[in-house]
Amino acid sequence: MENNCIFCKIANGDIPSKTLYEDDMFRVIMDINPASKGHSLILPKKHFANIYELDNNTASEALVLAKRMATVMTEALGCDGFNILQNNGETAGQTVFHFHMHLIPRYKNDGVGLNMEGKGEPDYSLDDVQAAILEKM
Ligand code: 5GP
Ligand code: ZN
Repeated sequence: MENNCIFCKIANGDIPSKTLYEDDMFRVIMDINPASKGHSLILPKKHFANIYELDNNTASEALVLAKRMATVMTEALGCDGFNILQNNGETAGQTVFHFHMHLIPRYKNDGVGLNMEGKGEPDYSLDDVQAAILEKM
């Protein structure tokens, strides 16, 4: 547990939260400022600041839990779609530096702004980007 980390305190039950699920590794809570009806967060109980720090077992179990939550929440809320989102670093929109996955139920015309639109033809070479990544794999 990391000092002064609010999600460590929530995940471990030191600060109360609206909990949807809990086991030894995770707590799933409802987001305090929801983007849509049912917006929730998967928090590991162990502190990892972001995906780079996450251990492989927590990473795999988090996705298994996300799948279960998405299935249950879709049935319970009657949403029309579902986004699973995870931010790393301030530039990517991370505001709480304890790894978490957003579970965002989506409803027709809900106006949730997750804009992943392309910007047209890139002004850099895709071959160069591919080569840079492949070199580190
Ligand atoms: P991030 O921007 O880091 O990916 O997401 C942080 C999320 O945590 C935001 O959606 C924000 O509303 C939520 N959040 C921040 N503080 C609290 C809190 O104390 N309790 C709950 N339930 N959610 C929080
Ligand atoms: Zn933490």
